[in-house]
Amino acid sequence: MSSPWGLTIMVLLIGMAVGSFLNVVIFRLPRRESVVSPRSRCLSCGAALTALDLVPVFSYIFLWGKCRHCGRAFSPRYMIVEVLTGLSAVASLTFIGPNLYAVSVFVMICILIAIFFIDLDWMIIPDEMVLLLVGFGVSLNGLGIWRAQFGELILFTERTALATYTISLPGSIVGMVLGAGVFLLIGWASEKIVRRPTMGGGDVKLAGAMGALLGPGYQFLAFFLYAVFVGALIGLLAMAFRRKKRRGYIPFGPMLAASGAAMLLFPAELTAFIVHIYT
Ligand SMILES: [Zn+2]
Repeated sequence: MSSPWGLTIMVLLIGMAVGSFLNVVIFRLPRRESVVSPRSRCLSCGAALTALDLVPVFSYIFLWGKCRHCGRAFSPRYMIVEVLTGLSAVASLTFIGPNLYAVSVFVMICILIAIFFIDLDWMIIPDEMVLLLVGFGVSLNGLGIWRAQFGELILFTERTALATYTISLPGSIVGMVLGAGVFLLIGWASEKIVRRPTMGGGDVKLAGAMGALLGPGYQFLAFFLYAVFVGALIGLLAMAFRRKKRRGYIPFGPMLAASGAAMLLFPAELTAFIVHIYT
């Protein structure tokens, strides 16, 4: 893998394979089924899917998105998740670099992709996913083990026009409390306004996890403002496309996940943009 193109294509393929696994997680985790066994089956005819059916993206294209056995169409969302995950892997490599930090950002984006779709389907966020994120946030920011090992590689730095500092363990914890606190407040206020529960505990925990990753500074402010923007966008799309039974559903989980993934990839650029608008 001497050429950058070779590396990029390899990372894209690995990313899409991970996306294929994320599809299994998104489908099975909320149903409390094992994500490792049994093999995937066609939901329509029950035929076990073989390697030929499960090559990310390519199977979908060459089988015209249909089951080989019964001809029933698979949801295009499986392919969307695979492509999204593949592109996230390439983006982590391209914008962060070929290092361990890029790998950890990619893993966190994978968790956020799973949260995005699970919350969209079920309006829940599994605790174990949030715990994984908090674990990443607090340990990467706090322990500094990786930083010591990889010298120049500084993890989770607040890099804006206004401030450049490494988020420390205290910063990570303050960010976590702040993130959860702000969303508790929003949940309380929006419940008063629409007179029904709008936010689940999972949303508050996810906001806390993102606070632990991004720290309590401008990055978190930027994350929060993007989340509101993404939320309005998803809300409009949901209104346009969805059946009415989701009335009153505010997509807090998906909006936090989408803006969190963007902030992990482009912390400096996205924060500088927000700071530029508001000053
Ligand atoms: Zn079938």
